[in-house]
Parts: sequence; C-alpha cells; structure tokens
Amino acid sequence: MTGNEIRTRFLQFFQQRGHSVVPSSALIPHNDPTLLFINAGMNQFKDVFLGREKRDYTRATSAQKCVRAGGKHNDLENVGQTARHHTFFEMLGNFSFGDYFKHDAITYAWQFLTEEMRLPKDKLWVTVFREDDEAYGIWRDQIGIPEERLIRMGEKDNFWSMGDTGPCGPCSEILIDQGESMSCGANCGIGDCDCDRYLELWNLVFMQFNRDADGTMSPLPKPSIDTGMGLERISAVMQGVQSNYDCDLLRGIIAYVEELSGKRYGDDAAHDMSMRVIADHSRATAFLIADGVLPSNEGRGYVLRRIMRRAARHAKMLGFAEPVLYRTATFVLQSMADAYPEPAQRADYVARIVKLEEERFIQTLDNGLRILTEEVERLKAAGANTLPGGVAFKLYDTFGFPLDLTADILRSENVIIDEQGFEACMEEQRQKAREHWKGSGEEAIAGIYRQLAEEGIKSFFTGYDTLSDRSDIL
Ligand code: ATP
Ligand code: MG
Ligand code: MG
Ligand code: MG
Repeated sequence: MTGNEIRTRFLQFFQQRGHSVVPSSALIPHNDPTLLFINAGMNQFKDVFLGREKRDYTRATSAQKCVRAGGKHNDLENVGQTARHHTFFEMLGNFSFGDYFKHDAITYAWQFLTEEMRLPKDKLWVTVFREDDEAYGIWRDQIGIPEERLIRMGEKDNFWSMGDTGPCGPCSEILIDQGESMSCGANCGIGDCDCDRYLELWNLVFMQFNRDADGTMSPLPKPSIDTGMGLERISAVMQGVQSNYDCDLLRGIIAYVEELSGKRYGDDAAHDMSMRVIADHSRATAFLIADGVLPSNEGRGYVLRRIMRRAARHAKMLGFAEPVLYRTATFVLQSMADAYPEPAQRADYVARIVKLEEERFIQTLDNGLRILTEEVERLKAAGANTLPGGVAFKLYDTFGFPLDLTADILRSENVIIDEQGFEACMEEQRQKAREHWKGSGEEAIAGIYRQLAEEGIKSFFTGYDTLSDRSDIL
C-alpha cells in the first residue's frame, strides 16, 4: 500500500464516520506568534478547541504538513540518525470538538489499524497516562488489550498541554513492536529507551482539563479529541520496512539521489546517512519555500537556512561539486503534486531560490571545512576537545556555517564547541554593527530573495487564508 493510498484511506475512514475532511494548512502559522512552524494537525484548530472560533462541524480529519525543526519540537538533530524522525512529515489526524471522547477515539484508532490496515493485534502496544483509569479500562475491557501490553506512563510522554495554561489532558499512544532486531540491545522497553524497537505510531490526546495560572485543573465542559499519526511511519510499517526512509514517500527521493550521484544506497554507511539527510531536508526546504519562507539570518528563515546548509554539506560528502538540492527539491514537489497541487505549481520559483542559496554557500563551504579540519587536527595534537568560540564564530561570520552545522561536523570527531565564547563574539559583533552600520552581503542577497519572491509570489500568494492545499485526494 503506497503512502498516497494510506493518506486517502485514513481520510475516507474518518469521513465515513462523520468527520469533515479539512485540507492541510500552510506551514507558517498565520495568527500564532508563539509557534515557529506548524508542527501538528491540531494547530489549525487551536481556536476551535479554545472555543474562540466556531466551525460548522464538530468532527474533522486532516493530513497536515508539519515541520519540527527549531522551536519547542526540534527533530533536526535526529534526522538521518533515527529511522523515524523527519524535519518535514505529514500528520494524519482526527479531531472532535466537544463531540465524541475517549471511547470513540480509542475505538476508531484501533479499528483503523487492525481492520483497515490489518496490522497484527499482538504486535501493538498501548500506553496510557498513569492516572487515566478510564482510558486504561476502555483498552483492557472493551478493546481487549492484555495487561502485558498496556503500560501506564508519566507526564513526560503521556500528558499533553497546549501551553502553561489552557486545555490539557492525558494521552494514549499506540506503538508497534518492530522486534528484537530493531532493539538497541539489553532488554530495552517502552519508556526506558528511545531506540526504534517500539515505534510510536499514533498519539491520542484527550483534552479534558483547563489549567489556570496557579496550576489548578478544572474539567472542561466539553472535552475534545486531538490525534496524530505520522504518515511516513504507518507507511513504513505497512510496506514491511523498518525505516521511514525505506517507505515509498522517502525512498523515491533517495533513488533520485542515487541516480544523480551514481552511488548506491546501502553500500556505505556514511553515504547512506547523507542520502537520508538530503531526502529529508529536500522535503522541508521545498515545502517551506513553497509556503513563503525565504532563507535569511533570523527566525523562520534562519531555520530554513540551517536545514539547507546542512543538506549542502551532505551533498558535498556525496561528491556533488555543483548545486543539486534545487533538483531534489523540484523532484519532491513534482512527486507530491497529487496530494499537494499548489506547492507543485511553485516548483520553478522554489528551484530558483534553492539554487541561489546553494551557489552562494558552496563558494565558502570548502574553505570553511578546510579551516575546521586544520583546527581539529591542532586540537587533537594538543589533546583537547573544545573548539574555541572564536573559530566557530569565524566559520559562522565569514564562511556562513550555522553553529549547529559546525557542531554536527564535530560530533563524529568528539569535539564540542565553546558556545559561551561563540556568544561573546556574536555580542561583540552586534555592538560593532550598532556603531558602524554598513550594508553587508547578507543584506544584498536578502534583497534579491525578496525581489524574486515578490515577482514569483504575487501570482499565487493571495494571503495565507487562501493558501491551504485543496487536496484532490478524495
Ligand atoms: P517521538 O516520541 O517518536 O519523537 P512524539 O511523541 O514527539 O514522537 P507526537 O508529538 O506525539 O510525536 O506526534 C504525533 C505523531 O506524529 C507521532 O506519534 C509520530 O507518528 C509522528 N511524528 C512525530 N514527530 C515526527 C517526526 N519528527 N517525523 C515523523 N513523524 C513524526
Ligand atoms: Mg518527538
Ligand atoms: Mg513520543
Ligand atoms: Mg507522542
């Protein structure tokens, strides 16, 4: 079953059960300054959950584009390392706004996984919040999960809140046991370990309380449901592969990178990692730019720039001397055009922005890497393992290396960065900049991007309210 089929089956399943199919929103939250990027299906319904906004439905379902890089949920460092994390992914979800609650949410999820997807019941595990006897009872007595596979967990994993105050409640998660071979070793179990043996598939959030400023929790008059399941994870499971990167949604991009690089996925661990990073980051880059983000030195634009530069370094490690990400980003948008027609229409614009950014960074990447290699040799010879803040700053300032890129390169050498020293250099530079402002290359390029964006965007960006993807997938 392809990823596209699973997305459609999911939305149809909930549509048949009275849910309105709501298109994905754009990745940039349009009225929530507390959020860097859309990172869950519920984001676009936040005001509905809070009772500030009314819709003409009380049940909804969606496949939502999400980015978890920068901000509260940051999976950037995980990409390429774990088999289950992306910066960009799609979250399948069903939502009840004061309509059904725990019993139906649990029953629907179980039916979808075991009847629609026909997953083996005995491989599925369930977690509930320690104090949530109601959910525990439903799973055990009505669904029939044996107690050995029904685990009570603490707040960290199984209690969700929208913020310090506001709606919150216990969660229940469904995981699949991928078997010994995916275990990191010694008897790791759910909650003890973050390895890929027990793969978290689906999180069901029971919005049940309102927490006020002094921490008091009072029951919500109309409890609600918010759920999220990663499309890439369920696709990998359905396709019998143990890594998201082997499901069709990602494997197609990797195949394209294989074709361009002349290297085979599976031949060399370092190259495999680079291919995974490129596949993942190409999706994030393509969709972020298509949704209106431009690479820049602050905020959302800087997260995008970090993602792109990390990908550019991996492209270099694969042997690419010329820009290539603009091609993989185009490939992504074209291959996802059925589900996301609007971003696909912006593929040419996206390619131009990506290529410009790549060309600029490639010029300084080699020199920066040379300096870093020399510095690491010097440190090793001196028996040290901390890169001076001044060197990290020079790499940042002169060669355009984001701090996390430098950290990423140093990780395999077991070298860390003196971050305080780096910050001190940053502050000194800010002071100087305030004293003698002068136009820099960064400002010039920002101008070019803005101009391109204005030319390119005018035709399709008519404001974020209309920027949702009207997926023709049903
Ligand atoms: P994990 O513990 O694996 O990091 P999570 O608990 O942070 O996941 P939730 O916030 O519960 O994830 O999101 C709901 C679902 O979205 C998860 O159960 C998973 O299927 C999917 N998901 C979350 N983060 C990612 C990611 N970075 N890449 C792909 N899928 C993800
Ligand atoms: Mg996580
Ligand atoms: Mg989790
Ligand atoms: Mg979770």
